[in-house]
Amino acid sequence: MLRDSFGRVATDLRVSLTDKCNLRCTYCMPPEGLDWLPNAQLLTADEIVRLVTIGVERLGVTEVRYTGGEPLLRRELVEIVARTTALRPRPQVSLTTNGIGLSRLARPLAESGLDRVNVSLDTLDRDTFKRLAHRDRFADVVEGMAAAHDAGLRPVKVNTVLMRDINDHEAVPLLRFCLDQGYELRFIEQMPLDAQHGWSREGMVTADEILDRLSPAFDLTPDDLEERGSAPAERFLVDGGPARVGVIGSVTRPFCGACDRVRLTADGQVRNCLFATEESDLKTPMRDGATDEELAARWTAAVARKRAGHGIDDPSFLQPSRPMSAIGG
Ligand code: SAM
Repeated sequence: MLRDSFGRVATDLRVSLTDKCNLRCTYCMPPEGLDWLPNAQLLTADEIVRLVTIGVERLGVTEVRYTGGEPLLRRELVEIVARTTALRPRPQVSLTTNGIGLSRLARPLAESGLDRVNVSLDTLDRDTFKRLAHRDRFADVVEGMAAAHDAGLRPVKVNTVLMRDINDHEAVPLLRFCLDQGYELRFIEQMPLDAQHGWSREGMVTADEILDRLSPAFDLTPDDLEERGSAPAERFLVDGGPARVGVIGSVTRPFCGACDRVRLTADGQVRNCLFATEESDLKTPMRDGATDEELAARWTAAVARKRAGHGIDDPSFLQPSRPMSAIGG
């Protein structure tokens, strides 16, 4: 098991398949993009599947989420998903994506056993999308979500980051859109993980503000308080349910005490937290011939060192040098 010194057990593995992305969302990276990892440093599909297999078969991982960067840019994605869903015990397998290309890939992904998909969408306005993501791809994202829904990857979950004076007036229309389409919306507080280090506490639209914006339009009742467990989203029944909306208050309502996540970067580093400043290298020992047992032992030792919390409120907090796109959200 991947147990840390506070007794938390990591069962939810987030794997970044690439640090590259075809959008440039302002809360994530600059318009000119970043220096991408050289190909030789990226784990190959076989290396990814080997590490995921060790996680599932030896270390108690029960959920695998592929992310990035943009995971749909990884050519071997369908193969990687199929090989993951073939593992026993069978993990839950999901994908976090910006949706561009999903209209083509939703069906093959569903056929390869993918269970769920989270698609990021921050606005319903094409011009705002262009301003926020520096690319004119709004229509592709909406098409991709519909394709995922049609392929049976339901409910499509939608991730939204609200930014002050850019899209924060869209909380209500975004929720209405998701309710109409049968998608489940989750608002995420903006975190200090952008490559430009432009985050500010004042600029962040907090969980309280999000709920204040939704409340005049919807009747929101807290859902499954007992069952929240390690889920990052606080969920609310909308107008009595069954539809729900989630709010992920990573900064103002941290949930580190119940965290069950561990991350693997596209270049094979184990990270215990989005905000970790330490990583543990699995790629080098793997390429130097380490056995599965040795890799599992390194991974276990890495998770044992997990810190109590993300520490954003500590005076000594330092933003990690890796931006979100290179960690895997
Ligand atoms: N490209 C994929 C996508 O767009 O979903 C996967 C990677 S992206 C880093 C994963 C999620 O992280 C997206 O929902 C994105 O909105 C969110 N994200 C990126 N930077 C963030 C930040 N600074 N604060 C909060 N969420 C962020």
